[in-house]
Parts: sequence; C-alpha cells; structure tokens
Amino acid sequence: MDFLSLLQRKKAGARLTDSEIDWLIRSYTKNEIPDYQMAAWLMAVSLRGMGKSETIALTRAMMSSGQVLDLSRIKGVKVDKHSTGGVGDKVSLILAPLVAACGCVVPMVSGRSLAHTGGTLDKLESIPGFRTNLSLKEFETVLARVGVAIIGQTDEVCPADKKLYALRDVTATVDSIPLIAASIMSKKLAEGIDGLVLDVKTGSGAFMPRKRQARQLANLMIEIGTAMNKRVVALITNMSQPLGKMVGNALEVQEAIAALKNEGPPDLMEVTLTLGEEMLLIASIAQNRQQARRLLLRALVTGKALKKLQEMIAAQGGNPDVVDRPELMPLAKYKKEVWADGSGFIRAIATRDVGLLGIEIGLGRKRVEDRVDPGAGFVFFKKVGDRVKKGELLAEVYAGDEKKAEMVGAKLGRCFFYSEKEPKPEEMIIERLAPDSGKKGAKRRHHRRKPLQ
Ligand code: URA
Repeated sequence: MDFLSLLQRKKAGARLTDSEIDWLIRSYTKNEIPDYQMAAWLMAVSLRGMGKSETIALTRAMMSSGQVLDLSRIKGVKVDKHSTGGVGDKVSLILAPLVAACGCVVPMVSGRSLAHTGGTLDKLESIPGFRTNLSLKEFETVLARVGVAIIGQTDEVCPADKKLYALRDVTATVDSIPLIAASIMSKKLAEGIDGLVLDVKTGSGAFMPRKRQARQLANLMIEIGTAMNKRVVALITNMSQPLGKMVGNALEVQEAIAALKNEGPPDLMEVTLTLGEEMLLIASIAQNRQQARRLLLRALVTGKALKKLQEMIAAQGGNPDVVDRPELMPLAKYKKEVWADGSGFIRAIATRDVGLLGIEIGLGRKRVEDRVDPGAGFVFFKKVGDRVKKGELLAEVYAGDEKKAEMVGAKLGRCFFYSEKEPKPEEMIIERLAPDSGKKGAKRRHHRRKPLQ
C-alpha cells in the first residue's frame, strides 16, 4: 500500500477501508511510517473526520497492535468503567472495590493526570508502597485472587495508542472525537473485558464541556463496543464543579475511603452508585436497578467494599492500614485558607481553572517528566448552591511550597461566583445511553436522590 495515496484520500475527506487502516496502524507501530507523516494523517482526520466503520476499524487495529488479555481462566464476568476525566473524580477508587465486593471482576487499566484533570494512578501511588506498574502476569494473579486490580498501561497493551497519543499531544489533534473514541476503546477492549460502563463527563471541568459533544463521544464508543460484541452503557454525568469535597492525590484517596465507609458526599455517592448499578446489571449480578442499589449499599454498610479495597492495596504492595490511619498518608506542609469575598449563593465554580491551579501545586504535570506532589490539594467546604456570608471559609489549599499556597489560594477565591438568587440544583446523572437508547422510552432522566444515611 502507498501511504501518500491514503493521506491524499483522507485529506479529500474519503473513507478508508478496514484493510487500509489496519496496514496504516501496523506500519506505524513497526516504525515503518515516520511521525511526521502520521502527524499529517492525524491532522487530516481531525479536520475531515472519520466514518463509523473507519473508527471501528481504527479501534480494532489499535487494540490488535499489542496483547489482548484473555481472562477466561478467571471466574466471573469482567466489567470495567472508564471516565473521560474531571476534577476531583475519584470514582474508580471507590467503584472498583465496591462492585468487586458484589461479585464483578474488575480489570482496570488507568491513566495519569491529563491537562487539568487528575489521574487514578497518581492517586493510588500516594498510598505508601502501592505499585501500579504490575506486569500483566501479576495483574492476572491479583485479579484471580482479589477480583480487582488497577494498573497503568504497559508496553505490551496497545502500543499503537501509546505512540499515537504522544504524537496527538504535540500536533493539536487530541480533541478529535473519533481519535478519542478509538484511543479509549482500544485500551479498554484489550483488557479482556465482557462489558464496560462509560462515564462521559460534561460541564466546566470536563474535556467535553458541551452536552452535544459528550453525547456524540458516548454514542460512538457504544457503537465501537457493540461492534466488538461487548456490553457497553454510557452515563453523561455532571462535571460543572469538583466532584466531592477533596481534590488532590492523597486527599482523594482519603475521600474514597470515607465513601467506602458510606460517609461520602452526596454528589460523589450518586455518581458512584449509579455507575455501580450499571456494572452489576451488565454482569447480570442484579436483575434490576433497585436490586443493584441494594447490593451496593449492603457492601458499603457491611464493610465488605472497604475490605476489598484493603485486599487490593495489600496485593499491590501498598500499606492497607491507611484505611484506618489517615495520618499514614502524605499531607503537604503549608495550608492556606480561602475566605468568601462576597455574600449570597454560590452560583458556579470555574472547575477547569481549579484543575489548572492544581497543576501549580503539583496535582498534575506540565511536562511528562514532572513529579506530582501526593500530599497537595484542595478541600472545598462550600459548593454550588450553598449560601455563604462574606468572610466565611470556602476552601483550603495544601501545598509543599508556602509561596505557591498563598498564590494559588488567592486565585482559588476567584474561581467562586455568587448570585443573590438560589441556583436550581443540577442533576448529577444527566443522561443514560445504551445500544438501544434510540428506542422509545429507553432514555432515562435521573432525579436527585437523597444523600445516603
Ligand atoms: N483518554 C484517552 O485514553 N485517550 C484520549 O484520546 C483522550 C482521553
């Protein structure tokens, strides 16, 4: 095949065939196509888009560029969750052990912080001793024994995505919906899962701030999964303010532990439990939503879910005592309090800006080689809809550098917006999408549930 003719055709908006896409990805993975040529192809895709069948072919080719795990020797239905990322999104830390405690097998391959959003691996690595770099063999051993393991991407799984992602990052081609869908789904499908629940976030702290784009991405990922015979459901969830009260690596682990003790904030619990319902339904562990919720709540109140987290921490080399002794987790030395400079109701929080301020104190990275600060972060005492008086405590900043704590604290105060009128409460679960969503009555709107007691 001739690369230049494929590039010309894509530039003109033509659809490439499955075998052309397969050749392209295989040749690029083997370094037979140089980065400068692939960068041109990625830009052509970004500008001209891709058809559904092309995106499915791309996903399949990327998935097949490395090892596809065969977990058939492990008993149970293997179900994972993927989130498109947000600020304070520690759902994986709660959900994975929670659904594993209910009988799912959860083989989770996660990522690190990306732009203004946090990463599950960075959070887990704030637990003393915790290893996210297990080999695939170790991953399978932990899964077979505990039922849940969370690791980072290895060189054996989806090498094409690793190369393409790095290239997209430096060629302004990250935000293409077909490229995002193929990147996410190729990695998830290589995990050897039977089903997948997608948490596609929308709002000021999400990569897809607009609902329409979030819906497009969710539908495309559902179509890809369905074409590969996997059960896939997506929830569009609200990321218009930080999820929960804590933002930061060790701080989010602490909030996740509280949630597994059934003491998490209502927004975090609602997103986690609704995703959990979907996972138990996909795994056929529950026959309906009510039964799924009952099983999840029972795992929380009996301590089974928390014990599962402890087992996973121990199996991955971490200190399981962190669950009962938060002082074992790092906490940055300097604290700066942020006070309200207005009165009224909090109307909005500039969530992406909160995430970007987080990078300044080391929650994420500016360059790949940067190290995160596990003990840094924010604690929010006020969220959207709360009434505040001028001078009340809004949030705390924890940082390893006193000047940075001061500077970030001053800027964090400017991320809060006030109004005299009480804002309407926003739903956390905005929409549910499934392969049959187009059919009448399949779309389900959610309403705010009462906080867990
Ligand atoms: N996460 C991924 O894994 N890939 C993307 O392209 C975007 C987010």
